[in-house]
Amino acid sequence: MTLSFPASRTNAYTGSPLDRAGHHREDAGWIAAAFTDPATLFAPVWRARSLMRGVEAGAPEGVLLGGMAAEKLRQAGGPWAFLGLWDARPVFAIDVSQEEAPPVSADAGSFTDLRAVAGLLPVGGASVLAHARGMMHWRVKHRFCGVCASALDVRSAGNALSCPGCGAQHFPRTDPAVIMLVVRGDHCLLGHSVRFPQKMYSTLAGFVEPGESLEEAVRREVMEEAGIAVGLVSYHSSQPWPFPSSIMLGFHAEGLSEAITIDRDELQDARWFSRAELRDPQGFSLPRADSIARRLLEDWMNA
Ligand SMILES: [Zn+2]
Repeated sequence: MTLSFPASRTNAYTGSPLDRAGHHREDAGWIAAAFTDPATLFAPVWRARSLMRGVEAGAPEGVLLGGMAAEKLRQAGGPWAFLGLWDARPVFAIDVSQEEAPPVSADAGSFTDLRAVAGLLPVGGASVLAHARGMMHWRVKHRFCGVCASALDVRSAGNALSCPGCGAQHFPRTDPAVIMLVVRGDHCLLGHSVRFPQKMYSTLAGFVEPGESLEEAVRREVMEEAGIAVGLVSYHSSQPWPFPSSIMLGFHAEGLSEAITIDRDELQDARWFSRAELRDPQGFSLPRADSIARRLLEDWMNA
């Protein structure tokens, strides 16, 4: 048996136009000059929200600020990080959450939750905003050393933290989560979680635990949540998920058994669905078109 259903399209939050230009991170002089250069662009993050315009019109796009608008962001004095170069222009993320009202003019746009509109954003733009949001979450939430509790020093243009007390180095975290479509013949397994919108059925998912391979995480999660044994596991594609700090690793998995035993703490329901049922959903809905779950489903359905 083969489980090869290649990815038909790229996933949301991928396709960044930025060159991360990591070699600049250790060049403090270059970073200091870039930080105040009027041509430099800033992606502001305010209380986990990203600056966009066109949201009300249903055509959102991310907004980066330069020139005088950027000066107001810098004066707020929050954490920042160098993200990379966009057509040779430096791009920084900057957090302005400590301000009661975001220090941007109303005509620049409004601060919006990226997850709510990601499917509507131009490819690449969502990736830059996700990068900025993930980095700023890390910077805001990691101020003290987890080893000795000293206040951390910022390094690598905001991309690393070091402890003056014990010397520990701290780097941004990306926690792997597996998301998998279990298939058996012409059927696939979908679950309805209490966290899902009403009647939506989607793929199972869960975090990888320490000391576990990705394949083992897929098999464990499916057994725990639905009581189905899994054989072959085949990688499909991945999707950044910096909400706050994950990456979704997508798989197709071979179901070896059929009788479902639901973990009621995780799922309200789980069922096998045929391709025909999924092509014409009656009484249930599928995950959002821009989700990796939907991509896993469609690439199997169309195989
Ligand atoms: Zn320390």
